[in-house]
Amino acid sequence: MRFHIITLFPNMFESYLGDSILKRAQDAKKVSFFFYNPRDESRDKWKRVDDRPYGGGPGMVMTVDPIIRAVDKAKKKITRYKKTKVKTILFSPGGTLFSNETARAVTTKKYTDIVLICGRYEGIDARVEKILKAEPVSIGNYVLTGGELPAMVIIDAISRHIEGVLGNTASPEENRVSSHEIYTRPETYTHKKKKFKVPEVLLSGDHKKIDAWKLDPKNTLAKGKK
Ligand code: SAM
Repeated sequence: MRFHIITLFPNMFESYLGDSILKRAQDAKKVSFFFYNPRDESRDKWKRVDDRPYGGGPGMVMTVDPIIRAVDKAKKKITRYKKTKVKTILFSPGGTLFSNETARAVTTKKYTDIVLICGRYEGIDARVEKILKAEPVSIGNYVLTGGELPAMVIIDAISRHIEGVLGNTASPEENRVSSHEIYTRPETYTHKKKKFKVPEVLLSGDHKKIDAWKLDPKNTLAKGKK
């Protein structure tokens, strides 16, 4: 899968995408990342990419033209590949809430290229969404200073659903019985004279019981708590 990232701050992505699983995924050609900076596309003498909002209000708004031109560049690149299926996402705190189902759907629907448009300042001129028929996406009910973190969040969430990205030893959690409460060695850890033990069931070797525990580690169902 190819991710085409429209951002004023491509350097922000370097350390996260250039390390660990996403680095290995790039080396294995499972994913690739391309960056397009609207500032490079600005036809303004001063390379401006923002302007004051119509109707007044604080802050600046990202202008239409440099973003459309950056996306056109991405689309031009995409046309070089055969059999492509493109999805365009525009980050907005008011967009549809991103979920694991959406992440999985991107891979099952066999998209080959995802264009991600990261906003900054007060946001993006609304005509960008209309022209590109982009899907507005939010990663949570809070406001960040830009769309770069949201882009990294969804790249990560989507990539782990691509076959081979997590490797043989770590299949996606969603495909197996797993628990958010997990333990490793030592069996007993002593902190300020208090002993913290691994739940006995996990040492029992009884996989039926272990799976049942993983589904309900706090035993809330048995306690009738819900
Ligand atoms: N004035 C906007 C508002 O109050 O809705 C906030 C714009 S925000 C400061 C700037 C950019 O950050 C947005 O255009 C968007 O790309 C990104 N952003 C901020 N919070 C986000 C969130 N929760 N999910 C997705 N993108 C977000």
